[in-house]
Amino acid sequence: MTEQSPLSALAGEGPLLLFGGTFDPIHLGHLRPAEEVRQRVGAERVMLVPCGDPPHRPPPGTSGEHRLAMAQAAVRGRATVEVLDWEVRASGPSYTVRTLEWLRERLGSRPILTIIGSDAFTQLHHWYQWERLLELTHIAAVRRPGTAVDALESPLAEALADRWTEEAATLWQQSAGAVMAFDVTRLDISATAIRASVAAGKSPRFLIPRDVEEYITAHGLYRDGT
Ligand code: ATP
Repeated sequence: MTEQSPLSALAGEGPLLLFGGTFDPIHLGHLRPAEEVRQRVGAERVMLVPCGDPPHRPPPGTSGEHRLAMAQAAVRGRATVEVLDWEVRASGPSYTVRTLEWLRERLGSRPILTIIGSDAFTQLHHWYQWERLLELTHIAAVRRPGTAVDALESPLAEALADRWTEEAATLWQQSAGAVMAFDVTRLDISATAIRASVAAGKSPRFLIPRDVEEYITAHGLYRDGT
């Protein structure tokens, strides 16, 4: 496995903001909420982490290389967001806990805040070693249209009960373990709907960055409905 050149986010001083996803393709419903969390917590950068082989869902129809390239195209020239290629390059399933352990080794006790959309957040207790996750990172639960962040099932509700905070500053007093809900601009955009519209011959223009749109066209992605 080759490692990409060191990212500024890893070398920085402040809290590290992480946002993982399939990103098949990356869209403005990912990018804008991440930017709003970044501004709210005062982090220098967001680190996007496209996953390789997601363990919680059917494999994406699009290769890790394409999804990584689209994420890189989406943020090119933007100083406040970077893309980590580690999960796409790593072998085996992309467990968030593995990525966090890899980061923890490099960051020491620096706080890490992982952004999760509310649909994924409410299912956190199905993630691999989910309780260990809370030892490695804080969680920023962003409200996605159609799902609430507070309708949690057992055992997640109990595990998080004492971890909620409303003050971003408290996130930086410890390296991990707190949960904060963020109201962000609600953009009802999904990668599934974008893939379906491209397959139907329609343009995803203005739902995704222009460079991502051009990448999709240049590589003929999603045209066959995958
Ligand atoms: P798909 O439609 O293929 O399931 P998706 O649009 O949900 O894809 P993912 O890559 O699966 O995108 O999502 C990565 C992360 O981004 C998840 O935590 C998800 O909850 C969050 N997310 C995705 N779309 C939005 C959105 N429109 N608003 C807020 N969060 C989102």
